[in-house]
Amino acid sequence: ARREAIRSWRGPATTKDGRDVELLANVQDGAGARKAAESQARGVGLFRTELCFLNSEDEPSIEEQTGIYSEVFAAFAGHKVVVRTLDAGSDKPLKFANMEHEENPALGVRGVRIGLRDIELLTNQLDAVAAAAAARDEDAETPAWVMAPMVATIPEAKRFAQLARERGIKPGIMVEVPSVALLAPAFLEHVDFLSIGTNDLSQYTMAADRMSPHLATLTDPWQPAVLTLIAMTARAGADADKPVGVCGEAAADPLLACVLIGLGVTSLSMAASAVSGVGAQLAAVTFAQCQEAAEAVLSASDSASARERARTILG
Ligand code: PEP
Ligand code: MG
Repeated sequence: ARREAIRSWRGPATTKDGRDVELLANVQDGAGARKAAESQARGVGLFRTELCFLNSEDEPSIEEQTGIYSEVFAAFAGHKVVVRTLDAGSDKPLKFANMEHEENPALGVRGVRIGLRDIELLTNQLDAVAAAAAARDEDAETPAWVMAPMVATIPEAKRFAQLARERGIKPGIMVEVPSVALLAPAFLEHVDFLSIGTNDLSQYTMAADRMSPHLATLTDPWQPAVLTLIAMTARAGADADKPVGVCGEAAADPLLACVLIGLGVTSLSMAASAVSGVGAQLAAVTFAQCQEAAEAVLSASDSASARERARTILG
């Protein structure tokens, strides 16, 4: 029955009682975006631009970047597309951007830390995003959205937001470092939206390498500490009346997706292949059930019991 519900599910996503949920796709290039456009995703919540350049020896020109970003905008013409600036470093080294050697690359110069050191790398990319956005359907009312990975401090967020706004782009930041969740209201004074990257947020909250097969229980996004940081972030977004999405793997887990909506998250972005599974699960529960599950997981003592509590409430 569940498989049939997933197969026959059609968007737009709502809970059983009709509450709208924004489901978006994670993409990494034009071909992936065109494929994702065939799913029920309503836009792109995470475009991992660094994956376009894993084999590049040199920084791609602004023109080359504009061409690639335009393909993604074209696949989702008239829809929201959130471009993430280069998340180089750590598990995604880029030859033209990386530090030579670091003892602890996951805690090193990665993501926006690279862009703010080598400011032209960042501004060239923002110029390309702006050019691609300007070239797409002229009357699209949604401006391009762009977000920085691995932000840890308010000055980083301010600087990034300023550079994006100078180019007519809507700035946001990812919530991957606990410092951002803890001070979410202050960060929200400077940016237009937040997007929670649960893969890295789990890694940095639990001090556990996301690549380690031995630490899967620790990096589990069902960890109550991670869920608490998500709750804090979502609440801050609601208070500031600004969107807070989730774009990590957590959003692709149908049960956890319901919990995230109950916690107050406003959009979920995931691999296109996960959209119908999440949509079907949301259609089977009420928003009140999502809220009840959200409250229950926050007081769980560990990830297994959090999951169990949610399963009991959400069925
Ligand atoms: C995340 O950290 O959750 C995220 C979405 O970014 P990435 O998986 O690309 O690090
Ligand atoms: Mg990340």
